[in-house]
Amino acid sequence: VEDMVAVVRKFLRDKFVKADVGITGANAIAADTGSVLLVENEGNIRFTTVAPQIHIAIAGVEKILPTLADAMIEPLVQSAYAGLYPPTYVNLTSGPSSTADIEHNRVRPAHGPKEFHLILVDNGRVKANKDNILREALLCIRCGRCHFHCPIYRAIGNIWGDPPYSGPMGAMWSYIVKGDTKPAMYCVHSGNCKEVCPMRINIPRVLEYIKNLGLHSKGKLDYK
Ligand code: SF4
Repeated sequence: VEDMVAVVRKFLRDKFVKADVGITGANAIAADTGSVLLVENEGNIRFTTVAPQIHIAIAGVEKILPTLADAMIEPLVQSAYAGLYPPTYVNLTSGPSSTADIEHNRVRPAHGPKEFHLILVDNGRVKANKDNILREALLCIRCGRCHFHCPIYRAIGNIWGDPPYSGPMGAMWSYIVKGDTKPAMYCVHSGNCKEVCPMRINIPRVLEYIKNLGLHSKGKLDYK
């Protein structure tokens, strides 16, 4: 594994340096400051957000939290439940690079990106938020903890769900984003996912609800 990582490291370093634009997601977004939080261990996100001249972050609207203080908690919870606490890096971006070293006047850009753009994606999320059962799924922070405690995921792995979504979490998101009720049908309601979820999402209840929608739509995608 070390040899494979070394090859990838050498190959990607050059790409990071030469890229014109860096594109990332976001683990959390602070509504009060417009800041984006990203958690990682590899250092690729740090490169992507700093080395290119332009940084574009693309994230679902459910990632928006009221304050920067709220948003800063998310990476710690995400990394803890993903089994990688403490995370190697937490990246906070609040706009293009800047300096205020001279007379405390903020001047942009400095050494990092000249531009920062945040693209918010709805793709079924706002509609789900209006549904009393489905809205619970929007609390998901994609830690992946539910995967490893699910008997179905342990048996069949990543083929369960619509990529990039997989596992119990993915069965919920496959419906919210793609209107696909089939992944929910795999759930056997062991309840393990609900017990380990840091956001206390009642995943079996959400999946039961999606199953019912799928059965009553007679196979049609009636959601979107
Ligand atoms: S449903 Fe819960 S346990 Fe599963 S990925 Fe989302 S937050 Fe983590």
